[in-house]
Amino acid sequence: MYWRSRKNDLQQEAPKALVAVWECESADCLGWMRKSFSLNEKPKCPLCQTSMKSGERMLCTITK
Ligand SMILES: [Zn+2]
Repeated sequence: MYWRSRKNDLQQEAPKALVAVWECESADCLGWMRKSFSLNEKPKCPLCQTSMKSGERMLCTITK
């Protein structure tokens, strides 16, 4: 049965790494985006249009 090995599969398929991101400067907003997904050097938050600051987050790495 496939589900028996599911826990091990999840641990292997979801490695986490520090990823460069843009973070919303508003303390009340959770907006952020991966830098690799944004071509803009000074992006605006997609949620509240506040300017964004450079940061890092622990994210599951996506190779696609
Ligand atoms: Zn925002």
